[in-house]
Amino acid sequence: MAVNLQNAEFILSAASPKDFLRDRMPQIAFAGRSNVGKSSVINRILNRKNFARVGAAPGKTTHINYFKIDNTFYLVDLPGYGYAKVSKAERDRWGRLMEGYFADPELMTLGVMIVDSRHKPTADDCTMAQWYRDAGCPFLVVANKLDKLKKKEIEPNLQRIRETLDMGEEDLLIPFSAEKGIGKQELLNAIFASLKQPETEEA
Ligand code: GDP
Repeated sequence: MAVNLQNAEFILSAASPKDFLRDRMPQIAFAGRSNVGKSSVINRILNRKNFARVGAAPGKTTHINYFKIDNTFYLVDLPGYGYAKVSKAERDRWGRLMEGYFADPELMTLGVMIVDSRHKPTADDCTMAQWYRDAGCPFLVVANKLDKLKKKEIEPNLQRIRETLDMGEEDLLIPFSAEKGIGKQELLNAIFASLKQPETEEA
């Protein structure tokens, strides 16, 4: 499938479930802790510098942002979580928005979850992974900031992520660096694979 990633446009920012897009175009959702590099990962795979906003004030962006990619799929930027300094009201808003999105099984085609390859996934990360699992759609994990690891740290850290998030053998974990571009093609391949329609049987 040839998808022109240059053909990407911002569509809307949904502040509540009534704004969600429901036009049946596949939706690839991106989630991650604030500051994990979610915007940087999105910018990297789209070859853009400032498309998704890097360094947006943590916890100040309780919106779901939709980007339409080549009239083929929506890249859905879910609001970051786990920032300690957000108010309870903001946290509740985050919960309602995310619950609304995850409650609708029609919406998501593939879930992408971004974690920091340097650290053990947090309790919030584990909850997020469980939300994806409960949603019943395929999901994969991107271990970002790989460039910050020493070579000998890579394998043990990836293993720790797998174990902490309770990932199965078949679950995809992609070592990634938004900074260096490591893992970009593997992530794109997984996204494109999820867009393929199931083969129709030939008579
Ligand atoms: P978001 O809050 O998850 O959208 O995170 P951002 O994309 O704004 O990134 C947070 C910070 O991490 C920024 O200072 C980025 O430059 C930095 N960052 C993101 N990805 C990487 C990476 O792969 N390697 C390194 N070294 N820094 C990164």
